[in-house]
Amino acid sequence: MSTDFGALDRVGLNLQAVFDLNALPTQARDRLARAFDGAHRYRQLILIGNAGPTLWRSVCADGLAADHPIDDFSIRTVERWFAQHSPGHRMHRLYPGNAPVDLQALGQLAGWHHPSPFKIGIHAERGTWFAYRVALLADTDLPPTTAPATPSPCTRCADTPCIAACPAGAMADGNFALDACIGYRRQSGSRCANTCLARLACPAGSVHRYDAAQIHHGYTHSLRMIEWFATNGARRTG
Ligand code: SF4
Ligand code: SF4
Repeated sequence: MSTDFGALDRVGLNLQAVFDLNALPTQARDRLARAFDGAHRYRQLILIGNAGPTLWRSVCADGLAADHPIDDFSIRTVERWFAQHSPGHRMHRLYPGNAPVDLQALGQLAGWHHPSPFKIGIHAERGTWFAYRVALLADTDLPPTTAPATPSPCTRCADTPCIAACPAGAMADGNFALDACIGYRRQSGSRCANTCLARLACPAGSVHRYDAAQIHHGYTHSLRMIEWFATNGARRTG
């Protein structure tokens, strides 16, 4: 019998993967054990993401007053789903949290994540319009999901409009220059203060593009973090 994720699908937490811990590749298992030393007490890892704009709309309907409204809403919703779906079972939330979980590696195992030229993960159908929201360890016996063998949209994208659209030329030499991206984003009058023009130029999964308000919210937050690290990181090392 498959797991009923309906309550999550309805609010836009519509990507779900269940892994048996003992079936994970050794490297992934070791990484989890390093991230959380109680991992051996659980049997499964449940990874939840969102694709498309529905989650943001659910969060807006719930209210944006919290400092981290998407995280707060996602945690609350997933933990309520887990309690209802698997009563009596234990779980431990890895993400959001302090454990350094390699979400992209888990996303690759789930079949969601392919690398893109600008380092945001790209999904075969949803393009870059998806994100990791919650990762749980659980003592459940849910049916494990199998990853579809889907090719990256980038493999059939001959004209790579993302590369030409980046005003910082951050991908011009075939690699991603994070410093060039950040430097450009921090400039006064930057066209990437609240967005990523490369991401907008990508045609893959464009029907699933986030609402403009969500894009603005996400990139405003990331630029704030960049400025915080630029100020506080410099103070710590200075
Ligand atoms: S524009 Fe093409 S190469 Fe760039 S991320 Fe999208 S699919 Fe990949
Ligand atoms: S945020 Fe702007 S500068 Fe950075 S990769 Fe995207 S388009 Fe380029």
